Amino acid sequence: MKETKQNILIIGAGLCGSLLALRLAQRGYKVNVFEMRPDLRKVDISAGRSINLALSNRGIKAMKLVGIEDKVKALCIPMHGRMIHDKTGNTHLSNYSGREHEYINSISRGELNGLLLTEAEKHKNVSIYFNKKCKSVDFENTTALFQDYKTKDKFVEDADVIIATDGAGSAMRKSYYLGKKFLFSFSQDYLTHGYKELSIHPKENGDYKTYKNALHIWPRGSFMLIALPNLDGSFTVTLFLSYDEGEYHFNNLTTEEAVLKFFQKEFPDALALMPNLIDDFFKNPTSPLGTVKCSPWHYKGNTLLMGDAAHAIVPFYGQGMNASFEDVVEFDKILEKNLESWEATFKAYQKTRKKDTDAIADLAIDNFHEMKSHTANPVFQKKRKLEMLLEKHFPDEYASKYALVTFNEDIRYHEAMLKGRAQDKAILNLLSDGIISTKLDKTKNNLKTILDKVKQETEA
Ligand code: FAD
Repeated sequence: MKETKQNILIIGAGLCGSLLALRLAQRGYKVNVFEMRPDLRKVDISAGRSINLALSNRGIKAMKLVGIEDKVKALCIPMHGRMIHDKTGNTHLSNYSGREHEYINSISRGELNGLLLTEAEKHKNVSIYFNKKCKSVDFENTTALFQDYKTKDKFVEDADVIIATDGAGSAMRKSYYLGKKFLFSFSQDYLTHGYKELSIHPKENGDYKTYKNALHIWPRGSFMLIALPNLDGSFTVTLFLSYDEGEYHFNNLTTEEAVLKFFQKEFPDALALMPNLIDDFFKNPTSPLGTVKCSPWHYKGNTLLMGDAAHAIVPFYGQGMNASFEDVVEFDKILEKNLESWEATFKAYQKTRKKDTDAIADLAIDNFHEMKSHTANPVFQKKRKLEMLLEKHFPDEYASKYALVTFNEDIRYHEAMLKGRAQDKAILNLLSDGIISTKLDKTKNNLKTILDKVKQETEA
């Protein structure tokens, strides 16, 4: 393949762009990265925008690829399950897996991004330029137009290859669309719900105010609140709520009284931990949630979209960042094949990757419904209980859809989706037909009969 001496220009030094820069530098490419925001290691720019994230096996696999797994693990807080809070404040923990070593991790976006930037900058062939916003990309001539945030000066950068990792609102994707030079398919589907970030501060002595090692959920049917722990003893809380439907929605939560009434009614135990609620609620933005799909991701061998720029998804599977990291792993595998040109490389990458990113986009929408309502539903809870038992007693034979997506980095997303959905359907049918019951005594023999039935139904 092409000569590693070539110049690669990356637009966006977020999670995907900084990892990509690091990996390409390890492969010997010369990389210039242009980021519109200031250096987040020097300026706090996180307020109100997904401060922490759930990192799981696919993301960790990418960290292993670049050799920083231990540094990343030091930033992680394990979350073993979902702590479900009902309206009266009762809680129950529903583990993510019956296998003890399977859990997800809460990690700070800023810390992780900062680490990736620092690791990338250790390579002499990586340069990162901050406060430079890409305005457009000339994909035929492989140049990008930037504007300096401070001086407002505009300048053009030339490269052999441009890769845009500039997130859900990608400037390069817009140039593809507006350029009308090739058939470019693009869809953007917003949910009727938006999100707002809130917080639970640590106790005065720095301890956590509620159980640390879980992802807390307050499911309320058509809306929900979640909370993920941070290393400093706080939790980042996110309210997912409709903009304009239901008794309470973002558009009518405009006064302190209305917000307090809403929380008193729906989330009294959370409210007790959040004396700062009103400040957070009116200070932090309400942001939309959407799915972006597009194709092709590349123009000839000149330009390529990656990460959220190619496939933004809603956050309910906790997989957007993990998928964007996995993009780099999959792209790296194609680079390893040393194909004859960048065009062949980009084509091969999209061919193998697109069906997986489409699958995780669809799974993330499914999980939106699962988290906000099904987690509170007794049949769903029975199903999860049964799956935990199957995973515990037959760790090599059974993995739920959630486990396939989240903990099995060796199965592709689209395969996890097909197998997981078939299993879900099989278990729900067997439960509702009374053919299996979680009341059955839990001897291994009995569970083996259940496992065989689930397998039979799944394959049918
Ligand atoms: P981004 O992280 O958006 O980075 C893009 C970068 O490009 C930014 O630094 C931006 O400043 C820069 N940029 C943008 N435009 C330009 C421009 N014109 N010129 C130059 N630079 C530009 N994923 C998970 O895996 N687990 C989770 O738990 C999770 N929770 C989430 C919760 C919420 C509320 C949201 C909204 C998302 C969540 N995600 C989660 C998804 C995750 O945030 C994204 O998938 C991930 O950030 C994608 O990385 P990226 O580098 O492609 O894009």
